[in-house]
Amino acid sequence: MKKNDRGRKKADRVKDDKELDAYCAAYMDFLAKGKTERTCYAEAVRLLEACGFKSLDTVTTFKPGDRIYRGYHGKTLFAAVAGKAPVAEGIRVVGGHTDAPRLDLKPHALYEKDGITYFDTHMYGGIKKYQWLAMPLALYGTVVKKDGTRVDIAIGDQPGDPVFMISDILPHFGKDQLDKPTRDAVAAEDMDVIAGLGPIDERLKKAYGLEKDDLLSAELEIVPAGAPREVGLDRAFIAAYGHDDRVCAYAGLSALLDLAQAKKAPNKTCAVVICDKEEIGSVGATGMESSFFENTVAELLDRQEKNARDIDVRRALERSSMLSADVCAASDPHFPDADSVGNAAKMGKGPAAIKYTGAAAKSGASDARAEFVADIRRIMDGAKVDWQIGELGRAEKGGGGTIAKCMARFGMDVLDFGTPLFSMHAPWELASRHDCLHTKKAYAAYFAD
Ligand code: MN
Ligand code: MN
Repeated sequence: MKKNDRGRKKADRVKDDKELDAYCAAYMDFLAKGKTERTCYAEAVRLLEACGFKSLDTVTTFKPGDRIYRGYHGKTLFAAVAGKAPVAEGIRVVGGHTDAPRLDLKPHALYEKDGITYFDTHMYGGIKKYQWLAMPLALYGTVVKKDGTRVDIAIGDQPGDPVFMISDILPHFGKDQLDKPTRDAVAAEDMDVIAGLGPIDERLKKAYGLEKDDLLSAELEIVPAGAPREVGLDRAFIAAYGHDDRVCAYAGLSALLDLAQAKKAPNKTCAVVICDKEEIGSVGATGMESSFFENTVAELLDRQEKNARDIDVRRALERSSMLSADVCAASDPHFPDADSVGNAAKMGKGPAAIKYTGAAAKSGASDARAEFVADIRRIMDGAKVDWQIGELGRAEKGGGGTIAKCMARFGMDVLDFGTPLFSMHAPWELASRHDCLHTKKAYAAYFAD
């Protein structure tokens, strides 16, 4: 619970609890539907369209208060509410990602051994392999046939659905495995998923109209089966697959939806970017290293000034700023060695600004300048957001990065700012409900400034 609980009036506490319950219920619903970057995209577009956002392709102007979105390949999304100031003066962005660590099926996805059919998998993102053994798994994705017909697959999360599983060795015979370093407990090429006992070709054909060769042109993902759950007697946490980074992406989306429903247009154009491929280095057409973002800003300028030049696009980008909405590691009492003492984000103390990420001597870091951090301090404290500031983890223990550097390359101010997690990148990650709500409040405050 919040540290200032004691001093608050009972009526205020009840109001706060209702807001917390409503927000977390909506977030858990989003997570239950959004198990992949494609299903997150579909759910986000559904919420945006229900709130009056129009596809940018269908509009010719972008006036204060207008709501637009622009999608890229059904995975990466930009949505904005037009501000009173023109786009040329810069926009405010909250950018997160909805891809999450998982197992992808290989192009030749099926093989048989000793009469058992397996899905052959390849890792996507940084996983601890052993965590994925002996637990229920779901299969999601899209198969595109040669004629362009698309077949969407979702097996494992509806009542009555079968699930899939990777087997582990029994402890009775597991001595050799248990003597290995955990990273070697299972080989990547052995992370194959039981798909059936005997051939499953006929079932693929009957249920989905798919030939085995159709799987050659598919994106199929193995993810943990099951919907998010509240954790603890006080229900203070949410356990879910993919908090990283749907917790921040959804918070940004939710803040933008609220902004769209407000009576007044924001001062500056406010935008949310929900992108793909962060977990493998933000590469590819749908990753933030692509030209998607700058192309979208160019499109917005084009809707406001008929003869916008390249230099205008660059100026607009330089005058923009972003909260890089990604999760951070919460200090875990079980693993104090990972902590940067006095600079580790604490669970339940609100979202954390992470001034720099990177590894070793800030290698690969996007380090926010003091002036921008000061501005964010002013905004967050002014809006009474429960928030904290720190760094990623103990020096020389490891490291990581976010999309911050992809955006900072346009010359704009960027600060990492997101929800602290326990068990990041595990099949089930933990976030505090309080931190989830205040992450949204933080992004709303940034938009409202
Ligand atoms: Mn992330
Ligand atoms: Mn991650």
